[in-house]
Amino acid sequence: MRVLLTGGSGFVAAHCVETLLRRGHSVVFTVRSTEKGDKILHNHSGTPKSKLSYVIVKDIAVENAFDEAVKSDPPFEGVLHTASPFHFNIVDPKKDFLDPAILGTTGILKSLKKHAPSVRRVVLTSSFASIFQANAGPNHVYSEKDWNSVTWEEALNNRSQVYRGSKTFAERAAWDFVENEKPNFTLATIMPPLVLGPIVSYLNDLDSINTSSKTTLRLLKGEFKDGPISEDRSMWVDVRDVADAHVLALETDDAQGKRFFVVGGYYSNADIARIIRDGFPEYKDRLPGDLGEEKADDGRRGYDVSRSKEVLGLEYRPLKGAIVDLVKSLKDAGA
Ligand code: NDP
Repeated sequence: MRVLLTGGSGFVAAHCVETLLRRGHSVVFTVRSTEKGDKILHNHSGTPKSKLSYVIVKDIAVENAFDEAVKSDPPFEGVLHTASPFHFNIVDPKKDFLDPAILGTTGILKSLKKHAPSVRRVVLTSSFASIFQANAGPNHVYSEKDWNSVTWEEALNNRSQVYRGSKTFAERAAWDFVENEKPNFTLATIMPPLVLGPIVSYLNDLDSINTSSKTTLRLLKGEFKDGPISEDRSMWVDVRDVADAHVLALETDDAQGKRFFVVGGYYSNADIARIIRDGFPEYKDRLPGDLGEEKADDGRRGYDVSRSKEVLGLEYRPLKGAIVDLVKSLKDAGA
């Protein structure tokens, strides 16, 4: 399948490129600059241009931003839309987050409808943010049935709700578009919680590391050395499983029209620190002294990912491998 992948310079997208190529697809990715595009191509120097190339989309929030990018010869059949802001430098919630997330999503769907009738399938990177429920009780089991009830006002006025709002409204807008506009393509959405696993070292300098790798980098830098380090557990998923989920959702007939919640399990910052302590003695002095042993599984299963297993055939990688590979990649990037 010929696939357009947005946000090619991103953490998740870098793994989508690998999975797409491995599974025989040809990929055109979007980036904001030739510098980033050339870096990615340089690192796939054995891959012919017919299999991997890029187009520039400087700002996904601009009207008609994707009008040219969606045109291709041979034409596209599938699209993975991963580009969306994910950071905590919120100056203007609307301009920095809500617009690129929402207008970026509706923008690409409009451009596809207008200029790329050959596209049959679109997969959108949504998030656990779009199913999170502020009032859920401790025994709530999250699944694709949940929708975050965040309001526009909350997203604009409460810093902790900006990103959640951006993902929730973007995903809703995508489903509404498909229902109202009846385009040639079907939609599937992928909803990961915190994504962990190896970064693409050649793309990243440590100062601008992607958001979900930041805690592990801070541990390696010694920023938690004097504690406290949290044993609180949250959901996570391996970036390679997230990439697989995107590509399988593109390939699988039965995935069309469905949301997919993807979760590898629970982690705590202390779990990450213990995996670093056990696997990378060179960082021992930068970690808190008394980390104790891994806590026994508390049996909590606040998520149901059976759909991803049944429809996509996903099997989830364990935390240890994700952290070991993340630390190795951070070392390669200079940590
Ligand atoms: P990254 O920050 O690594 O990637 C985001 C990508 O979006 C980058 O390529 C970035 O380009 C691009 N982008 C952002 N804003 C714009 C814009 N206005 N115009 C053009 N491009 C833009 O983050 P991730 O890879 O982690 O995130 C990818 C997707 O996964 C996002 O949709 C995110 O919401 C979702 N997600 C991520 C999770 C995680 O824990 N990592 C968890 C759940 C969902 P540039 O590099 O040039 O800034």
